[in-house]
Amino acid sequence: MQPITSKLPNTGTTIFTIMSKMAQQHDAINLSQGFPNFEVDPKLIELVNQAMKNGHNQYAPMAGLFSLREVISEKVERLYHKSYSPEHEITITSGATQAIFTAIAAVIQPGDEVIVFKPAYDSYEPSIEVIGGTVVPIQLQAPDFKPHWDEVASKINDKTKMIIINSPHNPSGSIWDKEDMLKLERLLKNTNILLLSDEVYEHIIFDGVQHQSASMFPGLAERAFITVSFGKTFHTTGWKMGYCLAPKVLMGEFRKVHQFHVFCSNHPIQSALSEYLKQPEHYEALPNFYQQKRDLFLSLLKGSKFTFTPSAGTYFQLLDYTAITDERDVDFAERLTKDYKIASIPTSVFNLNQQDNKLLRFCFAKTDDTLKRAAEILCNI
Ligand code: PMP
Ligand code: GLN
Repeated sequence: MQPITSKLPNTGTTIFTIMSKMAQQHDAINLSQGFPNFEVDPKLIELVNQAMKNGHNQYAPMAGLFSLREVISEKVERLYHKSYSPEHEITITSGATQAIFTAIAAVIQPGDEVIVFKPAYDSYEPSIEVIGGTVVPIQLQAPDFKPHWDEVASKINDKTKMIIINSPHNPSGSIWDKEDMLKLERLLKNTNILLLSDEVYEHIIFDGVQHQSASMFPGLAERAFITVSFGKTFHTTGWKMGYCLAPKVLMGEFRKVHQFHVFCSNHPIQSALSEYLKQPEHYEALPNFYQQKRDLFLSLLKGSKFTFTPSAGTYFQLLDYTAITDERDVDFAERLTKDYKIASIPTSVFNLNQQDNKLLRFCFAKTDDTLKRAAEILCNI
């Protein structure tokens, strides 16, 4: 047989797998891959258990359990004052990663260009490339990671089919405010460019700031796939549950792909979530919960040589190590894991041309005890 020609010749194993494995091998505190190390609400576990006992163990409807889509619609309406039809405009997915891939696969044709802001979550680009789209990267810079709109405008041409945005932003912890969203809305006016707004951290936003969902801006919502993750919101990253919102025409195309990509997502978990989501306090408590963790972590780092801009959203904190070493971030992250027993994510892997800004990403979705032990190590470096 001829050797197979890779569809993703430049794609390796994701940094999340690499760093979590390294953390395990070296018995390091794992602040790399983004997942909580505390328990899920027992009420939610009980609801899943009950759903299984009540026989919700066969295929769910293709677009998701209607009762779950209804409660999502109510939530979005209440938070963002935008109505999405449970019948036609909401689909439950197996995590946001699937929603992102399915949205891209549904609308991108070979040769279409997709603008991606870097640093970018690492699933966007392979999802575009594997179906023949072309990534048009725009590098953003610390500390605010905001685009220069003239530069964005200069990248738009007849082939531009989609722009991907992500606020609160992984890995930087920066957020887009209303003005940023309005600027994007103005830029896209009178174009056919679609938007993919990855809002998996919509409920993890700090200092009393309101999340600016694309659904709040009519000129964005009319062209947007919005992707959300229950894994982030309910401390259940291993359940791989999320959803996508989009206007009916876009959602029609999304579902054509979804039905042959996964057909449907986990039924008992959807059943449990449809009950659990009825109580808004389950997600309204998140900003405060995670802000306390951010503040604890940062207060403990005050005496360290790391410098930082406090994260405005997500459960990630960037730390600048320029005062410690001029090693490349990938090398320093490896040394920290092996020698100091603390694992992080080097952010150059998310940048254009692996630009190294001496920034490591640390996940603070951890118990206070873990954060204290981690900070003690970091202060001794
Ligand atoms: N987008 C971003 C920005 C993320 O950080 C993640 C990681 N959870 C995802 C999408 C994927 O979410 P999920 O785990 O639900 O697939
Ligand atoms: N979203 C998580 C992070 O940024 C990890 C997702 C994954 O492991 N694929 O760390």
